[in-house]
Amino acid sequence: MPIPLSTPFVLPIQTQAIDAQGQCDCDCDCACTGGLAYANSEAITPAQENGKWVMPGKFAGPRLAQVSLPGERWLALSPLAPSGALMNAPAARLLESFAAPRTWRSAADELTGFDAEASLQAARQMAGCGLLTPQEGAPAGQQAQPQTLSAWLHLTDRCNLRCSYCYLPHQPRDMSLETGQAALRATFAAAQAHGYQNVKVKYAGGEPLLRAEQLFDLQRYAAELAEQKQIALQGVVLSNGVSLTPAMVGALQTLNLRLAISLDGLGATHDRQRAFPDGRGSAAKALGAIEMALDHGLTPELSITVSSGSASGLPQLMDWVLERSLPFTLNFYRENDLSTGQAGLSLDERAIIEGMLAAYRVIEERLPRRSLLGSLTDRANLSAPHSRTCGVGQNYLVFDPQGQLARCQMQLGQTFPLAAPDPLAAVQAERRGVQNLPASSKKGCDDCQWQAWCSGGCPLATYRVRQRYDAPSPHCNIYQTLLPAALRLEGLRLLRKYDA
Ligand code: SF4
Ligand code: SF4
Repeated sequence: MPIPLSTPFVLPIQTQAIDAQGQCDCDCDCACTGGLAYANSEAITPAQENGKWVMPGKFAGPRLAQVSLPGERWLALSPLAPSGALMNAPAARLLESFAAPRTWRSAADELTGFDAEASLQAARQMAGCGLLTPQEGAPAGQQAQPQTLSAWLHLTDRCNLRCSYCYLPHQPRDMSLETGQAALRATFAAAQAHGYQNVKVKYAGGEPLLRAEQLFDLQRYAAELAEQKQIALQGVVLSNGVSLTPAMVGALQTLNLRLAISLDGLGATHDRQRAFPDGRGSAAKALGAIEMALDHGLTPELSITVSSGSASGLPQLMDWVLERSLPFTLNFYRENDLSTGQAGLSLDERAIIEGMLAAYRVIEERLPRRSLLGSLTDRANLSAPHSRTCGVGQNYLVFDPQGQLARCQMQLGQTFPLAAPDPLAAVQAERRGVQNLPASSKKGCDDCQWQAWCSGGCPLATYRVRQRYDAPSPHCNIYQTLLPAALRLEGLRLLRKYDA
């Protein structure tokens, strides 16, 4: 259905992909787990309807994001809800007229050359998808609590690879079945005590498939707990893929487990970052595992770590990934004590931006069916506004192989005992280690137009460079360059769909 040009036209969209997103190794605190509920027009009260409205962020709070598209069309995202709209030029002018507070009626009446009722309807739709907010009182929609509690289970510290950016020392430490079960009991008890409706368990390592049988036992146990407590369960395995077998794929499918495989490039690009202990590359094994999983009906989600050394290989990798319609996320390398000194990893701004934009050009040539808003910009996630980059310290539990608690998987050196009756309260109260501040309290992010989606980046990465948490990411320039380009790709994808 082509977008008309003769009348103000607003096509509301929900930006949170319903189909599976690629798995990165952190969980965002976006509307799937918190943020503002969808500000639909039913939530607008009669009093608000006749009151004055304004574009979000004109006085306070995060601003909306907008990008222009071919044919005088625009895509705008709301900073208040996982929503936005495609619109034509008259509608964009109408939206712009809400730079100062005014009623829908006055804005519609002043949009000359168009039917006032159509303009009024467009203003109503903009309000309904969070592109306008009432001048007085709360935005339309309600503040929602996070609904998902995430728990990492580090099943082992061992790994069959020696990736150059890995943050683990690879000691021979495994999580026992009893320890894993205790961690799961603590997780579900915390979920129940704090009113979470969903638990997401991430089975990680080291390489978790080195403990495949135990992983499957733990997932069965988690399913029992979920059933008892009437809490929905998601499980995902974060693997390098090299030891994946058809039997494991069958078990993953039976147990309703998602599979995320790390793939950083094709051939040498991947091999440089992800080698076996004897130096052989693992690309052939990882690619073979992905093809084998696909052959057996399981679609793996790819986690792609981008470094200065791998960025130039992204276009070829994207081509391969899109050819197979695989979900993926592009994540930037995060410096850690065990990775420093490894050649080619640190994020050279120019190399990263060039590589990422080249990858975006490949995506533009073969725009996928699924939204990529959550996949293209590292920890900056365009699929839903969020106040914090990740769930650390909020709705996030990490268990090391001994069952000790940590706030973040990259701080397994800073653990504390699970003995606390409420592990989530203990994690929330812990003041050592990473502090995950809202973007509004980071000077520089507080008035950034991308605040609602970037949130200032990984706090650990910020602290490593700036020795403080209340500051923008050291990768700020990269985010500010890539975010509009990623948003434009989504606009092109939507246009292709609606112009068809
Ligand atoms: S890190 Fe940069 S792009 Fe991200 S919110 Fe802060 S100022 Fe904006
Ligand atoms: S602090 Fe950084 S590494 Fe840890 S979960 Fe958050 S974004 Fe990920």
